[in-house]
Formats: sequence, C-alpha cells, structure tokens
Amino acid sequence: MKPKVAFFDFTGCEGCQLQVLNCEDELLDILGAIEIVNFREASSVKLDNYDIAFGEGSISTPTCVERVKKIREKAKILVTLGACASTGGLNALKNFQPLEEVRRYVYGDKADCFETIPVRPVDQVVKVDYKIHGCPVDKEEFIETVTALLFGREPKVPKYPVCVECKLRENGCRFDYGELCLGPITRAGCKARCPSNNNICVGCRGLLDDPNTDAANDVLKKYGLTAEELLKKYRLFYGYSEVAQ
Ligand code: SF4
Ligand code: SF4
Ligand code: SF4
Repeated sequence: MKPKVAFFDFTGCEGCQLQVLNCEDELLDILGAIEIVNFREASSVKLDNYDIAFGEGSISTPTCVERVKKIREKAKILVTLGACASTGGLNALKNFQPLEEVRRYVYGDKADCFETIPVRPVDQVVKVDYKIHGCPVDKEEFIETVTALLFGREPKVPKYPVCVECKLRENGCRFDYGELCLGPITRAGCKARCPSNNNICVGCRGLLDDPNTDAANDVLKKYGLTAEELLKKYRLFYGYSEVAQ
C-alpha cells in the first residue's frame, strides 16, 4: 500500500507547491512511491483520508486555524512546506501594522467580508513533525524529506549557516561590497542561491537552530554595522519571531 499524501495551502503564494511540481525529473518516481489524494494545484482528486499532509502558507485567518486543526487530526505526519508555513514568512510583516488598517488597505470597501488575525506559523497552532524551509522550498530538500519519510528515517538537512555553502562556491562576500548579508545566522540548504547571484541572503530559510551570535556580532563590528540594522533585514522573513517575543 502506497502512503496517501495530501497537499494543502493556507495563506501564501503557492510557489512552494509549484516547486513540488517543478520536480519534473523525479516526479514519476515520486508518484510511483506515493498516492496523491489531495493537491488542488495539480489534481481534481480530493480525498479526506491521508497519511502525510504537506501544509503551505501561514495561518492568518480563523478559517486557516479551523482547517489546520482538522488536517492535523487526520494526518499521521504533518510537514510544513516553505517559509510562510514554517516560520510565518513574509506574511508576518502584517503583524507590525494595525490589523484593521491592513485589512482596509487590501480589501477597501469589501474589508468587512474578509476576516483576519495576526499571522502565525503552523506550529503555533498545531504540532508539526517536520519543516521544509525556504521561499520557495528547495526541490532537493523536498525530495529528501519525502524519501526519508518513506524509509522511516530522519530527513538529512544542513545544520550549518548559508556562509558555509557560500564559501564552498568561492563567492565574494557581500559584506566586502558594503552590504549586510544574513548568511552567518541563516540555515543553509539553498546552496547559497542569493550570494551566488550577487545578492545578499535575506534569511528566507530562517534562523539557524544554534546560531553563533558572537561570530555574527564580530562580523557586524568588523564592517561597522549594528544589530539593529541586521534586525531590520531579518524582519522580512522572520518577523514572527520578533513580535512573538
Ligand atoms: S514560502 Fe514563499 S514561495 Fe512558499 S508560499 Fe510562502 S511566499 Fe510563496
Ligand atoms: S556573502 Fe553572505 S553568505 Fe556569503 S560568506 Fe558573505 S555573509 Fe556569508
Ligand atoms: S541565500 Fe538566503 S535568502 Fe537566498 S535562498 Fe538562501 S536562505 Fe534564502
């Protein structure tokens, strides 16, 4: 019996589900090993019986809360898919503004038709078994997670900062260009995608479990930058942790 897998979206752009569909070379193998029973972006099949649920998007409405609780009740394993679901992601920027103002700004005179609550990552509402980070998720990490779940082992994900992957690619450091990069405190796994394309890391994969804050402070000091400047950048993807403190 193949495990039944379902994909659900809460508040997000659905780019992470698109990344799953982008696994073109591996998709047939994946489909040979699992049965997809719910995936709105790819299929009209809609069954309510599943073993593994992937949840994309943050929790930002009472309906999201209700849905994620029901999904948790049914799924043996719940995995968050991407920054919105895993850490709150970009959506958490809403939490820094008066909610009513945000609602009126977005929906205008139809605002009363749309409910809103402060944004939360999924694990602040229900228990989450695994998280796949990134905006969007990395295809290889998704495949590694699915493979690990099928074999009943822990997914192998990097526990070091983006800087390690960046150095291995022999990139010039963005700090040397007068920029503030979040690579030293951000969990790796994206192959340093942004610095490898001459951009700073803005932390979409979230804070490392055990960041070396002393080393990060030393880097800031060396380049005449402050922790406040770092936090301003950090808020883009990790604002939830800031307001939750
Ligand atoms: S993490 Fe990024 S790509 Fe994924 S749903 Fe959220 S905004 Fe979209
Ligand atoms: S560019 Fe960013 S990720 Fe790369 S080494 Fe410098 S600080 Fe680290
Ligand atoms: S370099 Fe940073 S912002 Fe870019 S993909 Fe990797 S973790 Fe995300």
